[in-house]
Amino acid sequence: EPMRRIRVTNRLLDDSAGRPVGLILVLTDLTHLRRLESVRTDFASNVSHELRTPITNIKGYVETLLEPGGSTDPEQTERFLRVISKNADRLDSIVEDMLMLAQLERPDARESLAVDHTRVAPIIDSVVSALGPEAEAKRITLEQEGSGDLCAMVNHPLVEQALTNLVANAIRYSPQGTKVIIRASRSNGVLTGDHVEIEVRDQGPGIAEEHLNRIFERFYRVDKARSRERGGTGLGLAIVKHIMNLHGGRVEVDSHLGKGSVFRLVLPAS
Ligand code: ADP
Repeated sequence: EPMRRIRVTNRLLDDSAGRPVGLILVLTDLTHLRRLESVRTDFASNVSHELRTPITNIKGYVETLLEPGGSTDPEQTERFLRVISKNADRLDSIVEDMLMLAQLERPDARESLAVDHTRVAPIIDSVVSALGPEAEAKRITLEQEGSGDLCAMVNHPLVEQALTNLVANAIRYSPQGTKVIIRASRSNGVLTGDHVEIEVRDQGPGIAEEHLNRIFERFYRVDKARSRERGGTGLGLAIVKHIMNLHGGRVEVDSHLGKGSVFRLVLPAS
């Protein structure tokens, strides 16, 4: 049990003659409020830190290039410019992901979510073709299993975004020459109703148990350096979780160190 913060205010009750007859105690549980406040401060400082790293890099390389005699070797100049460009791309992805999160978190996001009777197969197809080049660059095969005529009640672009994030991670963290399997199926839960599940299975490094609860938090990474180097923003899974919540669905993960990972989107069927 985490520590709770309770605010206590008290007031004596007097009768008409001014004699004390009782006491009112008001207990207010501030735990949730305080936690929200600290989440917000943490987020602001995390964002600043995340933005500062690429900015520092860009400034450093630009200053070196501007130094007198700093850019005489064209090969070195090109190398520096590439680093600058990579860091500018990184700033771009962080800002893009933050805007996405901000939209998903708007208070009216759930009511205004446009969902439709949607076939799952075309969603998977477009993710596979969009990420094909990245997979190919690592000689990773993207395999599809059994989407058939499955349909879900979803917002197509958002679910495509969620699946893109999962498949991009699978490619990003898996070694060369492995396989990523995307499998869709229908599950009929007696208590939970009909669902469509889209599963992304990789043969990557897996995730140790102690991290599994936390990887859906913003900016949480198992290995910061590796994520950055591979172009991760640390926001991908937070976005996936939000998208699933908006749909009344969920995202699940099964993973063991050294045995690969399975991420599963569970969505209302239609
Ligand atoms: P990032 O941009 O760092 O990938 P995410 O929110 O998408 O951020 O993921 C959070 C962390 O979860 C990653 O930094 C990585 O450590 C871990 N992770 C996510 N997907 C996988 C995967 N398929 N295999 C191994 N680790 C993963």
